[in-house]
Amino acid sequence: MKRRQFVGGLAAAAGVAACAKQENDCSADGATAQQTYQWSCVTSWPPRFPGLGMAPENLATRVEAASSGRLRIKVYGAGELVPAFEVFDAVSRGTVEMGHDASYYHKGKVDAAQFFTAIPFGMTNLELNAWLYYGGGMDLWRELYVPFDLVPIATGNTGVQMGGWFNKEINSVDDLKGLKMRIPGLGGEVLRRAGGTPVTLPGSEIFTALQTGAIDATEWVGPYNDTSFGLHKAARYYYYPGWQEPGPGLETIVNKDAWNSLPPDLQEIVSTTCQALTTDVAAEYTHGNAMSLQQLQEDPNVEIRPFPPEVLVLLRSITQEVVDELMADDPASRKIGRAYFDYLDKVSANSRISELAYFQTREF
Ligand code: CA
Repeated sequence: MKRRQFVGGLAAAAGVAACAKQENDCSADGATAQQTYQWSCVTSWPPRFPGLGMAPENLATRVEAASSGRLRIKVYGAGELVPAFEVFDAVSRGTVEMGHDASYYHKGKVDAAQFFTAIPFGMTNLELNAWLYYGGGMDLWRELYVPFDLVPIATGNTGVQMGGWFNKEINSVDDLKGLKMRIPGLGGEVLRRAGGTPVTLPGSEIFTALQTGAIDATEWVGPYNDTSFGLHKAARYYYYPGWQEPGPGLETIVNKDAWNSLPPDLQEIVSTTCQALTTDVAAEYTHGNAMSLQQLQEDPNVEIRPFPPEVLVLLRSITQEVVDELMADDPASRKIGRAYFDYLDKVSANSRISELAYFQTREF
């Protein structure tokens, strides 16, 4: 009977829920008599947006199935319950139990959180996950969120992003001057020091801002997500690589009291499902980007270009400055930044003779 319920997935979950209502009928099976939980999850993403927005939806579906309906999560897109950038506060206050967003949106509130999404010219998807899961990164992340009554769980990674869409060519460092660009996090600060004007906008507002000329350029994610927003219809030049976000990790955040209210097996189901989604989201992006890139390569109104080397060299040296200042000014950023860069040194030595060396030998 138990095995059938597991194999039956969602249908079985519905059956168990029905059973739980008539507890006496099912009391022989302890698992079916346990308490059920109904959570809300707010996100920074447009509802059911490919990749980013589907990650929490898939989390909810899988947790419900794996728990036989004992933990049900209703997911809300940005603005449906709280605005895109108020996820952290809503979950911290306990207004809702769960959130899904990117930790660099908490810049200004908890600056050190940026290390867990992406650092310009920093770790890739594989390297970040190595640090988080095996190199002590998750412990530092959990410690950082304790004062906010939040439990962070890594959930998803987009892989290397694109540099973004530009309405004018970037041929030299001078072309960055006066550039008004949507670019969040540390990348935005780097652009500011290179002479540009960084703007932070939630995804849903990017297309209109670019099309109306309110901004000259934007980064968002990569071909898969950028074509979903139609950004290729609002700008001509698509630059790579995404120096600002070389493999940004996404986060699930759970209110501490809500987390502590779960029995250990449900906590394990949530954690394990989040880790599965980290792999799943990266695979979805690798696939989606490849398919959408083909479409962009065939589009006569789109030019896909590499940034000039001198632009990347400048941005990299400014990044060093920005990160050094962040670590000098903020003790939490200093502690986490030291751990991050120490790990980056070690892991990149291996990446150089594995991923990089292999890519250089493969014909593209
Ligand atoms: Ca981005």
